Amino acid sequence: MGRLLLFAMLGVIGYLLVRRLLQSGAPTLKHPVPPPEQTIETVRCTTCGVHVPRREALYANGQFYCDQHRPSGSTAER
Ligand SMILES: [Zn+2]
Repeated sequence: MGRLLLFAMLGVIGYLLVRRLLQSGAPTLKHPVPPPEQTIETVRCTTCGVHVPRREALYANGQFYCDQHRPSGSTAER
């Protein structure tokens, strides 16, 4: 009887070990997580309301403008 119990325990332990190995090994087989998409910050043109990437927008008088509505006479800086 004692021997039967021993085999039963070995079976359970072996089962748990195999299950743990399968679970820990599974994530490495998965596809790598893709990098998060690069979000491009956009700003709204004060004149026409179109959204342009911030680095392409013109900032003048505390407001953003697209290329077409660059305020004349002011010192627009990128
Ligand atoms: Zn505009």
